Amino acid sequence: MLKGKNAIVTGATRGIGREIAKKLAALGVNILINYRSNDKEAEELKIELENMGVTALVYKCDISDFDGVQDMINFAKEYFSKIDIMINNAGITKDTLVLRMKKEDFNSVIDVNLKGVFNCIKGITPIMVRQREGNIINLSSVVGIVGNAGQVNYSASKAGVIGMTKSLAKELGGRGIRVNAVAPGFIETDMTYALGDKFKDEAKKSIPLKRLGEAKDVANLVAFLASEESSYITGQVINVDGGMVM
Ligand code: NAP
Repeated sequence: MLKGKNAIVTGATRGIGREIAKKLAALGVNILINYRSNDKEAEELKIELENMGVTALVYKCDISDFDGVQDMINFAKEYFSKIDIMINNAGITKDTLVLRMKKEDFNSVIDVNLKGVFNCIKGITPIMVRQREGNIINLSSVVGIVGNAGQVNYSASKAGVIGMTKSLAKELGGRGIRVNAVAPGFIETDMTYALGDKFKDEAKKSIPLKRLGEAKDVANLVAFLASEESSYITGQVINVDGGMVM
């Protein structure tokens, strides 16, 4: 039963994060909407969630900013008293072959996708340990498992998230806190929009289920992992990829 629980969703204004926020809110979860830049999208989502009958807070903060993230988590703790669910979803890409990849392209992706997740778990862990319960779900990617040409930075960050997930699950299992990762395949969002129709048509051919994923495909799994229905699952990486990686 998720009704009345409180969650922080990073990168909640667009794509997968937005769908996760909506899915959890539909199940009665109060949401802190984190985002980095687009105030209008955040305010629109807040109203949409409130219309679903839950409390929605907006908090603008770049997750690569350690102190900013600690302030955000403290704000959520003060407002909600308890934080049950932390969804580490925010992520970016800066794709190019390593021959052309600038060190800034590598560093910025690691700063957001890997250090950003660390910043969030560092802030939330003491709170969940004191509560003796909590649920952390990290967004990784299938390319963190199998790699992808043009994504040395991104795949390294997502492989790092998998390592972090498993280590944290081992640290916190005895304290009533579960930690899992979700590894989406090819999901239609702004992140994959720029790849173009030709590329997407080719990708579909190599996916056993012959379609690209939708953000709600990922949100459905996140809701399951956030719920008591998955109470014996921790330290796992679950693909949502139409069978692309198996
Ligand atoms: P998206 O459509 O590009 O949306 C990204 C969201 O993250 C936006 O709300 C953005 O907010 C926020 N964000 C970006 N950088 C941030 C930062 N530094 N601090 C706080 N918020 C930040 O991405 P998506 O496709 O939904 O992807 C969501 C997650 O799933 C990512 O971790 C991604 O790596 C992972 N994933 C996606 C796919 C896919 O096919 N789409 C596949 C595998 C894994 P602003 O607009 O305010 O910047």
